[in-house]
Amino acid sequence: MTIQKTDGLTNTEILEADKAHLTSMQRQVQYVAKLETQRKGCPNCGTLSNLPEAAGVRVDDFNFANHGSDRIGACRGCQRTLIFTLPLIGDWHWRLDPAEATMKEPTDGTA
Ligand SMILES: [Zn+2]
Repeated sequence: MTIQKTDGLTNTEILEADKAHLTSMQRQVQYVAKLETQRKGCPNCGTLSNLPEAAGVRVDDFNFANHGSDRIGACRGCQRTLIFTLPLIGDWHWRLDPAEATMKEPTDGTA
């Protein structure tokens, strides 16, 4: 496994670092990493996961700098596919894969 490093720091080091000591690139990674390590509930079962957890990798192995719009993981509770969704306004949330919507319907609407 390759640990993702940004200008010589691991993700954990960047997350814990004082912003004043970071390069502009590291600050961008810190901003994204702080958002994406927040745990959000699965719309199907409510299990909380952040992006690295849903992807099944350690924080240090997760590439926060490569910010794709279609980041996909799996719920650790119900194993449903979770799609990272970033609305224009507001915080990110998990969305279920509509192609998988068969056995259980989300209980709290489409959010
Ligand atoms: Zn779930």
